[in-house]
Amino acid sequence: MKTRIEQLRALFAGAGIDGLLVTGATNRRYMTGFTGSAGMALITRDEALLLTDFRYIEQAAQQAPDYEVVRYDDPYAILNERLQRYKGQRIGFESHHVTVHELENIKKAGGDAPPVEWVPVKGLVEQLRGRKSEEELALIQKAVDITDAAFTYILDHLRPGVTEKEIAWKLEVFMREQGADGLSFAPIVASGPNGAMPHARPTDKPLAAGEFVTLDFGCVYQGYCSDMTRTVFIGQPTAEQRALYDLVLKAQLAGVAAVKPGVVGKDVDAAARSIIEAAGYGEYFGHGLGHGVGLDIHEEIPRLSTRGTVVLEPGMVTSVEPGVYLPGRGGIRIEDLVVVTEDGCRVLTKSTKDLLCLPS
Ligand code: ZN
Ligand code: ZN
Repeated sequence: MKTRIEQLRALFAGAGIDGLLVTGATNRRYMTGFTGSAGMALITRDEALLLTDFRYIEQAAQQAPDYEVVRYDDPYAILNERLQRYKGQRIGFESHHVTVHELENIKKAGGDAPPVEWVPVKGLVEQLRGRKSEEELALIQKAVDITDAAFTYILDHLRPGVTEKEIAWKLEVFMREQGADGLSFAPIVASGPNGAMPHARPTDKPLAAGEFVTLDFGCVYQGYCSDMTRTVFIGQPTAEQRALYDLVLKAQLAGVAAVKPGVVGKDVDAAARSIIEAAGYGEYFGHGLGHGVGLDIHEEIPRLSTRGTVVLEPGMVTSVEPGVYLPGRGGIRIEDLVVVTEDGCRVLTKSTKDLLCLPS
């Protein structure tokens, strides 16, 4: 199997470059294995350099054995020095990760005569990151398993009187105790009217009978993220509340069923959205159906939305998370992570999606 360095080099010709300076933190980690917070990787046709500072030299040497680790005091001076042998060549920089200030420094490094031609390049490493390897999928599954366990655990604590913040904290503690390295984002616990805000922050509001509670949370395991949402009910829902839940579930299942190789992101989105629209709730589902998940919690490959143009390929991991949000009243969202397979998809999240009605 080709190494990530070889895979990246294979993309150089198409991007019109002779090398790439990788400065995006997640891309740097993906390409090198180095998890430190400072440094840049320079990958050319015949060299792979990892430039970092004194604090990280030893760690970088251990984590990035395929790279020549180069220590810098002034990163741009070292960069300029190492680029001298590439005079006149086209070296890409990650235009979506470099600040204007950094770009000035990169270009200035060569004085009046920069040794190379700098070419803005977007999303090259991300292209590789889109298709997960078996090893990566195993780590994502582990992160998903921890969130599944956290959902089972938290059900016993969802009782009237407990605040959203208390639930969020219990989720956080549980996932850490189960071996998570951290959270992939701050948990969302939104009850009653708060559920109408898709990204509500947990508040001091106590859970109450007769309300939905939306729980959206995830963890990080060895760098890889999980992300799941379940909406449960405290007490017994009305027929209208149950029908709304069933609608979101039907849309979610249709979304999952639409995930397969060769399908465009926006068509998966439409498979779920059309069901919510047909029921008259289209305007209350104002976000995309899903996003890629991997080393980052929100990845562009693939994006399932009305504008999603990525064609699904085996190995891509995406969330499928339709929701309906009624201002002032509440909301429902159901989210699984799925991986695209050769002939469809496999759902990584195992927790039930039946409406759970908890004792009030
Ligand atoms: Zn989520
Ligand atoms: Zn999500």
